[in-house]
Amino acid sequence: MGYIDLHLHTTASDGVLSPSEIVKYAKAKGLQAIAITDHDTIEGLEEGLSEGRRIGFEVIPGIEISAEHLPGSMHILGYFLDIHHPLLNERLEYLQKARAERNPKIVQKLNRLGIDINFDEVLKASGGGQVGRPHFANVLLEKKVVRSFQEAFDRFLKKGALAYVDKFRFKSKEALHFINEAKGVAVLAHPNTLGINGYSELEKLILQLVEEGLKGIEVYYPEHSSSEVAQYKTFAERYGLLATGGTDYHGMEKNGLDIGVGRGEMKLPYSIVENLKAVRTRSLLGR
Ligand code: AMP
Ligand code: ZN
Ligand code: FE
Ligand code: FE
Repeated sequence: MGYIDLHLHTTASDGVLSPSEIVKYAKAKGLQAIAITDHDTIEGLEEGLSEGRRIGFEVIPGIEISAEHLPGSMHILGYFLDIHHPLLNERLEYLQKARAERNPKIVQKLNRLGIDINFDEVLKASGGGQVGRPHFANVLLEKKVVRSFQEAFDRFLKKGALAYVDKFRFKSKEALHFINEAKGVAVLAHPNTLGINGYSELEKLILQLVEEGLKGIEVYYPEHSSSEVAQYKTFAERYGLLATGGTDYHGMEKNGLDIGVGRGEMKLPYSIVENLKAVRTRSLLGR
């Protein structure tokens, strides 16, 4: 049995490889299945799924939705989505509009700081997929405004930085609702970015999310410490949630991180995919 990776980005959002490239790469690496989970979009799924069928490799249609949350950030993964579901498509179109309104404002802020950058350059950097802040970072790097991708975020693009512009996010309840409506299995991504330290505070939030339709927690993630992994695993066991994992591979920008293995020996078993399928079947029966 091979291993799996359930958190991957493509050129449909801010990844470097196209959906078909990432499917081919995963197969070449000896993986058994992957999920494509682009930010706020399913535009890469048709291509990824069809490449999977063509070369005989299992591709799970997924997504990663940013939800409203403070002080950190909350991302919710959805797996086995019905990509033609009308409500899902309507909600995602709304997010596209929000993004299209935000992006020119970032350009404006950068211009006001005296930086020569226009939206066409960012559009070009995005390669035709959805435009996100990493594309701004790449343009700033190319123009030598900054010396590294990370410096672009730290000085200009991250929350609270000089050219940061907030964008609309759904509340967790709404995001979980449309994922479930579209027959997806919802999983809380990388809980360590929530900005919650206390055990009971995290427990309270997870229970709220479960009530809203959450089915799993992304326990295995390259940025989780071993104590975080242990804590999230305990939560998953205690509340009957799936324990999933993935690398959040975007391409080459994070040194040493690779698909399937993260920065070392992640190697998650295929049984996680079987568990996801079982939970999906059970919740579809319960509708
Ligand atoms: P966007 O969807 O346009 O808001 O961009 C979000 C993406 O930017 C995330 O998925 C990350 O890939 C990247 N990102 C966000 N915050 C940071 C940060 N502080 N440092 C580096 N990359 C970041
Ligand atoms: Zn990203
Ligand atoms: Fe994320
Ligand atoms: Fe991600």
